[in-house]
Amino acid sequence: MEFTRLPHSAPVPGATRDQAIADPGFGTVFTDHMISIDYDAGKGWHSPTLGPREPILLDPAASVLHYAQEIFEGMKAYRLEDGTMALFRPDANAKRFNKSAARLAMPELPEDVFIESVRQVVKADADWFPSVGGGSLYIRPFMFANEHFLGVRPATKYKFLVILSPAGNYFKSGAPAVSVWVSDFTRAAPGGTGEAKCGGNYAASLVPTGEAFAKGHDQVVFLDAAEHKWIEELGGMNLFFVFDDDSVITPPLRGTILPGITRDSIITLAREQGLDMREEMYSIDQWRDDAASGRLVETFACGTAAVVTAVGKVAGRDGEFTIGSGGPGHLTSTLREKLVGIQRGSVEDTHGWVTRL
Ligand code: PMP
Repeated sequence: MEFTRLPHSAPVPGATRDQAIADPGFGTVFTDHMISIDYDAGKGWHSPTLGPREPILLDPAASVLHYAQEIFEGMKAYRLEDGTMALFRPDANAKRFNKSAARLAMPELPEDVFIESVRQVVKADADWFPSVGGGSLYIRPFMFANEHFLGVRPATKYKFLVILSPAGNYFKSGAPAVSVWVSDFTRAAPGGTGEAKCGGNYAASLVPTGEAFAKGHDQVVFLDAAEHKWIEELGGMNLFFVFDDDSVITPPLRGTILPGITRDSIITLAREQGLDMREEMYSIDQWRDDAASGRLVETFACGTAAVVTAVGKVAGRDGEFTIGSGGPGHLTSTLREKLVGIQRGSVEDTHGWVTRL
């Protein structure tokens, strides 16, 4: 697919950009360009452009505004130690994007078009790479329905866009352990859209996440919808439980949790390290009991944003408990260093996970 390069009449001034990339934070500063590709039933994907990032015009009847037919991905461009920029497992994001598309009755985007779109916009905005150590360019590919139609059926028109946001080092002051709140709300039910990365899942998580924040916690833990017993995941990360006999458990993919690409990578790395890594259901009661007995030595969460983060404290309706010393444990730190090392090029990439740009 050939991208038409649109003229850019008003790029962000260099000084404004320099300031933004020196202290990017997360998700508030955006780069100069975006990719746009349109879809029409019958015509397929067409009119790919690389142009200035600018507002998009939507008809008030655009179906995404009414029935939330929208999906997205979250990934990062890293800078390797030798200075080149690289993506981490972009093929996995492309595949997950298409799985989400299928669940939301949206058209699939060929994987090579997804990856090429990401490549093109990252290359165009390479000078937006954060100047702070540990920074990255956060990449947000997304697709929404924009047919003007109010009937409840899949739309016939869609738009795929990719925008970028410089992101700072998630761990400004080392890697603290987070405190999590076990929610009474449910994120996803069997047969629902839990394993798709669709905007609606996140809309549903805002009240429970707000409740966790209001109670002084960093993240929300969701339990399963049917029994409210089995641990599923955090608002934006997958969970791992580490035991004193070198076994590790992570909740299985039963259709209600997001199949994290970091989760999948950690499973691979843990197995390579000789750990007894199992995808198994684990209950909130067992979590509390194992933390009390000392059998459970670490719990960590993982995802693109924070890579690997220790969970130190767990609170919920039935009180709270601490895991291990309450700080990051040994395996949490080892796995984080290994994964970050692969992403930044200081640890050999034996899996072909790193794609140079
Ligand atoms: N679960 C949820 C609900 C998420 O939003 C994310 C972030 N995409 C994850 C898990 C972690 O996924 P990944 O490792 O692919 O970032």
